[in-house]
Amino acid sequence: MCRQCEINPVWEFTNKRKLCKTCFAKYFRRKINYTIRKFCLIEKGDKVGVAVSGGKDSMATLFVLNDFCKKNRSELIALFIDEGIKCSGKNYRDKGKKYIEKFCKDNNIEFIETSFEKEYKLTLNKKLSQIKKIKISNCFVCSILKRALLNKIARSKGITKLATGHSLDDEAETIILNLVKGDIKLLAKLGPIAGVLHNRKFAARIKPLYLCTTKEIVLFARLMNIKYDSKICPIRSDTLRIKIRKFLSGLEKQHPEVKRAIVNSYLKIMPLLKLKFKDRKINYCEICSEPTSTGKCKTCWVLKKLE
Ligand code: AMP
Ligand code: ZN
Repeated sequence: MCRQCEINPVWEFTNKRKLCKTCFAKYFRRKINYTIRKFCLIEKGDKVGVAVSGGKDSMATLFVLNDFCKKNRSELIALFIDEGIKCSGKNYRDKGKKYIEKFCKDNNIEFIETSFEKEYKLTLNKKLSQIKKIKISNCFVCSILKRALLNKIARSKGITKLATGHSLDDEAETIILNLVKGDIKLLAKLGPIAGVLHNRKFAARIKPLYLCTTKEIVLFARLMNIKYDSKICPIRSDTLRIKIRKFLSGLEKQHPEVKRAIVNSYLKIMPLLKLKFKDRKINYCEICSEPTSTGKCKTCWVLKKLE
């Protein structure tokens, strides 16, 4: 039984404490408010954007930020990108987009959509064989192009904070991935506010679900009746990440809370890591003038490879 309400529980913590539906929803929202305050994710005067794909994590982020922003009188805008991915003959993003549009309409949230086709004159599906030839992963190409586009829209709309649906499970996985790859610079870029170098041309990327597990997000979405698309991307190719995901899930079953321990350990060393890379000089891309740490930004590099 839920300790507070003495009614049927929907959630049990690893220490066997249980929560009913109402108490779980309260606990989940409180955790997000705590995350926002503790890591200063949203402050007075911020204009908030949410990058929404239509999946459970980003739909839950949109749902909780809608309440948060209405309460705190912050403006909220939803951003959606169609990458041009086919799934069983249909567009992979169609279903998710419908859910985002409906939620935004019902809740009076501005909805902005664009596509790789419109902005880059390409679709991921049409570039698959070329991506394979140059031996980079589909997920790498997709994330580089998506991030640049989200930043461009965010800047044009005066968005100061751009929220994504990254969860505790995602973060634990990425921490281990960067360790395994030996990429400490990428490791330093993680955390509730992504990145190390801050520049007025970048909207700060924030992760309100940073302390929420996938299991908690799925339950919250179900209890709140949040509609989302549960399809997995048909062209995902991040094999090492998927191996680490499976490894951590197996470990979590035998040793509950390992993912949380990984993230908590990371949070302890994060200030030192960010400090280590803080003084790196920001350059501006010779092609598009966007900020970059080298002469040419990753977006221009990818686009050139795909010509
Ligand atoms: P992923 O790397 O696919 O797990 O996505 C991470 C986060 O990026 C999601 O939680 C969303 O916030 C955002 N995102 C992913 N795909 C899209 C998209 N097509 N349009 C807008 N935001 C997206
Ligand atoms: Zn560039």
